[in-house]
Amino acid sequence: MVDTGGVLDAVVVGSGPNGLAAAVALARAGHSVTVLEGADTIGGGTRSEELTVPGVIHDLCSAVHPFGLASPFFASLPLEEHGLVWRYPEIDLAHPLDDGSAGVMVRSLEETCAGLGVDGPAWRRAFAPVVDGFADLADDILGPVLRWPAHPVRMARFGLRGGLPASLFVRRFRTPQAKALFGGSAAHVFRPLDRPATASVAMMLFAAGHVHGWPVAEGGSASITHALASLLRSLGGTIVTGHPVTSRADLPAARVTLYDTGPGAVADILGEELPGGTRRAYRRWKYGPGSFKVDLAVRGGIPWTNEAARRAGTVHLGGTFEEIAEAEAAVCAGRMPERPFVLLAQQSLADPTRAVGDVHPVWAYAHVPARWSGPGEQIVLDQIERFAPGVRERIVATAVRDPAGFAADNPNYVGGDIAGGANNLTQLVGRPKILGDPYATGVPGHYLCSSATPPGAGVHGMCGYRAAARALTYLGAG
Ligand SMILES: Cc1cc2nc3c(=O)[nH]c(=O)nc-3n(C[C@H](O)[C@H](O)[C@H](O)COP(=O)(O)OP(=O)(O)OC[C@H]3O[C@@H](n4cnc5c(N)ncnc54)[C@H](O)[C@@H]3O)c2cc1C
Repeated sequence: MVDTGGVLDAVVVGSGPNGLAAAVALARAGHSVTVLEGADTIGGGTRSEELTVPGVIHDLCSAVHPFGLASPFFASLPLEEHGLVWRYPEIDLAHPLDDGSAGVMVRSLEETCAGLGVDGPAWRRAFAPVVDGFADLADDILGPVLRWPAHPVRMARFGLRGGLPASLFVRRFRTPQAKALFGGSAAHVFRPLDRPATASVAMMLFAAGHVHGWPVAEGGSASITHALASLLRSLGGTIVTGHPVTSRADLPAARVTLYDTGPGAVADILGEELPGGTRRAYRRWKYGPGSFKVDLAVRGGIPWTNEAARRAGTVHLGGTFEEIAEAEAAVCAGRMPERPFVLLAQQSLADPTRAVGDVHPVWAYAHVPARWSGPGEQIVLDQIERFAPGVRERIVATAVRDPAGFAADNPNYVGGDIAGGANNLTQLVGRPKILGDPYATGVPGHYLCSSATPPGAGVHGMCGYRAAARALTYLGAG
């Protein structure tokens, strides 16, 4: 048991971006806070390490952070004073196709439209209404779906588009480049792209991208949580690592406890104390497909056929919209496609501190079925080689992680689901339960604050911030 020298105001279980955001929100309001992290290092899905070659810095999980900049909570914090520097690639996203062309997104909406040719006007009509006034919209979309929005008109405009299946949304485009560009970002939702609301994540990613860009954190994604941890300590908070919490006995006395964990872990810890409905909802929480990650150290960078891809921070690999839709449908049905959708980042283009000489880190992962245990490395390399012939000759070192590896590294990634829960319609709308406050467990003073709560996965801290707001009300009333 951790010695905290008396009853704390707050304990936070887990030091991912949401746990640390919750801790900072509570400490900022003057409360004593301790964070208990099960792993030996802080950060959860935002850790970075020299995985391959000494000095080459790889992101173990998150790499690209449009939501980090869009987050109203992060924007309210002096994270730059605690070492966080955002770095921007020249091109935010490229989606190469087999003929050597690519769909390309840059921060400027106008430039993106110009690059999309005949689809430029359709792209502008789709995104201009959500880019305009995005700061107001961000507050609504980075929160629970089931509540009256602060900006109903903007939210309605967003909802009309985001509520569509991605397969229907792309009918407004004529070129394979624009369709694929949208489809690759829609695939971040880990759902068959013909299902309702599968356009929503792409809408959010592009709206944030056209306002803030798709930046990386200088020195690695760990810099985001290191800045949050440094800020927390400056406010008097403490962090204990190597302290997994599996039962009430592992928790020090505190007035409120917040859980940056999966709902099932809270059901294990609070057991019969939870109201029956909540306990059942937490036990029923569903996980989605898995991921297979390949980190590469590449001499001279990747020799993409498409010139824009050579300058892009993020590259989506999977070919046409139709091909990606087919691959995602297979993965969600538990079948491994021959050519899965692969997300790839070239962080050193924006942040040269990640590279050593001419050896650059490359981050790539494929969507695979949950718990898939096959050999994924060559499958991911084949997808890269398809658009960058000769890449294998430049690879200096490789590190791989399969779904079991993800689950072993972080108890929130059950079955290798890096989103911490399936994005089916029920769970998109009711995270982690349909009825009642999504953050409240029903046990007074105990709140869920992980990405299993709204707004879901991503490094934005908004789940933690919103759970902390409930805890602050409870502390104020207590
Ligand atoms: C490969 C990969 C790529 C990704 N790419 C991006 C990206 O580019 N951009 C982006 O925005 N997001 C990305 N994400 C998603 C993002 O990392 C997560 O959505 C985000 O980290 C979730 O934050 P969280 O605080 O809810 O949980 P986590 O970051 O998972 O943190 C939870 C923490 O709690 C700890 N914990 C859990 N249970 C216990 C317990 N019982 N006791 C003590 N400690 C516990 C865990 O060890 C962990 O440190 C990616 C994730 C992965 C894995």
